[in-house]
Amino acid sequence: MKIPIAKLPIGLHELEFEGPASAYKLNSAVFSTPVIGQIQVDKGEAQVYVHALVKTNGLFSCDRCVREFDQEISGELRLCFEVVGTGGRPSFTGEEGDGEAGLRTYRTGEAFIDISDDIRDTLVISVPMKNVCSPECQGICPGCGEDLKESACKCGEKPPDPRWDALKQLQDKTPEDG
Ligand SMILES: [Zn+2]
Ligand SMILES: [Zn+2]
Repeated sequence: MKIPIAKLPIGLHELEFEGPASAYKLNSAVFSTPVIGQIQVDKGEAQVYVHALVKTNGLFSCDRCVREFDQEISGELRLCFEVVGTGGRPSFTGEEGDGEAGLRTYRTGEAFIDISDDIRDTLVISVPMKNVCSPECQGICPGCGEDLKESACKCGEKPPDPRWDALKQLQDKTPEDG
């Protein structure tokens, strides 16, 4: 997302945008829906404040039942740009971008402020560490393999899992020399 900052008059502006997830260098196997966002831009003489709410949908596999499910990923970012005149020098010392957290520079005359990388980072860190298809998901029984959200455990009612027979056969084949 490039904010057309040069075109905006001094003051508060609300912008909306929508763009393909691929434009944000997001994994297309996970993120296949567009990234949409609402941005507030407060353009001042000395500083530009950007506050953005962004969201998209991702396809995740449940940590409990392994089923794939769709999940909304959303995040919020706040950025502050110090306006620097084309011939002037920044009023703070230090390299661009590694000053105070979130403080960047915007050079007067540049057409856009590009916040694509910031949007990407916000979405990536908003992906939960644990993905569960629903709070009720109880996963798969390691014994009978039933999805416990849909049906009851069959461990008690079934003959032994044939996979154990296969394991037994393997064990029988193992040479035993004493
Ligand atoms: Zn699940
Ligand atoms: Zn079971």
